[in-house]
Amino acid sequence: METHLADFIKHTTAGREAEEILRRCVHCGFCTATCPTYQLLGDELDGPRGRIYLIKQVLEGVEPTEKTRLHLDRCLSCRSCETTCPSGVQYTRLLDIGREVVESKVPRTGSDAFMRGALRNLLPRATLFGAAMKLGQSVRLLLPGVLRAKVPPPSSAGPAPRAGHARKMIALAGCVQPSMYPNINGATRRVLDRLGIEMVEPSGAGCCGAVRAHLNAAEGARDDARRNIDAWWPLLESGAEGLVMTASGCGSHVLEYAHLLQDDPDYALKAARVVLATRDISEVITAEAAGLAPLLQACKALPEAQRALAFHSPCSLQHGLKIRGTVESLLSAAGYTLTAVADSHLCCGSAGTYSVLQPVLSKRLQDNKIAALTAGGPSAIVSANVGCVGHLQGATDVPVMHWIEMLDARLSS
Ligand code: SF4
Ligand code: SF4
Repeated sequence: METHLADFIKHTTAGREAEEILRRCVHCGFCTATCPTYQLLGDELDGPRGRIYLIKQVLEGVEPTEKTRLHLDRCLSCRSCETTCPSGVQYTRLLDIGREVVESKVPRTGSDAFMRGALRNLLPRATLFGAAMKLGQSVRLLLPGVLRAKVPPPSSAGPAPRAGHARKMIALAGCVQPSMYPNINGATRRVLDRLGIEMVEPSGAGCCGAVRAHLNAAEGARDDARRNIDAWWPLLESGAEGLVMTASGCGSHVLEYAHLLQDDPDYALKAARVVLATRDISEVITAEAAGLAPLLQACKALPEAQRALAFHSPCSLQHGLKIRGTVESLLSAAGYTLTAVADSHLCCGSAGTYSVLQPVLSKRLQDNKIAALTAGGPSAIVSANVGCVGHLQGATDVPVMHWIEMLDARLSS
């Protein structure tokens, strides 16, 4: 696509990157067919090709309006379009650039600005969010249905293994996961322990930065990345094998650190090393297949009633990290049978803060996804990202959990 970027951005890093991405797009529209928001709304401007065109106009100097911002807001950043695109257009990178420019030219006001400010300040602060979650859980049964669906009942991380191991991997505690679903990292710790790896969670690390990035607070997201790198660095230097991510949304964002910090002379190289050292938990466990096989062979037979699982592959796993089939293989090896799930490439509507900021579209995607996941009558639904787990559980009585919890339960049987 031919571009003539305006002077305000032309000679910046963002401008050069945007120009390169825009030139790759041949306007074929293949991506539109797999875009969840285009499928729901049927408007070209609510699909990737239309949004690319809107961003191009803004970067070429056309003044954006609230309508421009709305079409960009409605994007889930699910990256389904990137998987489909035959030209390798890095749509979400362009979207981030476009959103930052539009945000500065069309500032938010009123309840929109308040809500985004509140989310930016509450969600990434694990202690503050944990206290709010505890309070919500204590009055959960009195909460209105919409709110109750977002507050899971209290749960624990389960028993922690006592012995240490020479092999160590760093885990990201994250922001909302420890207080909402502590058993995800608890289960990871136990499974890794059985494989001879100690999981360590340095206290200085926190939110990966995806929350602020999704809310167009780019500098805040970079600060989150720098703080995490500072917390991880001494462990990486002293022999930790790498970083294990138990939320695919966080993992996908951490892989962006090198790009986010490319212009920071103090952090660019460290960020590149962190990216190279980062693995999703499914990749870590797959690499330990030789140790896992005898453990699975020693497990009791799985009762028939618990065998069928429906797997929801988060967008961040299949489109962001491009990990496909790995979790499914691990669950099959553990004795589970996966039910067929229609339209498995589509987003469930969780998408970071999307379910709060775009509740109507999010609900429609959630309903569609629950129908697809429950069609095969599974005993449970499993996923790989805390946001999807919480979002789906809010709309069904079928238990929803992280797949590593299933593997942990199997290995404990
Ligand atoms: S599929 Fe790729 S090249 Fe085609 S319109 Fe979409 S982004 Fe552009
Ligand atoms: S990221 Fe998802 S919602 Fe956004 S344009 Fe691409 S496919 Fe559509």
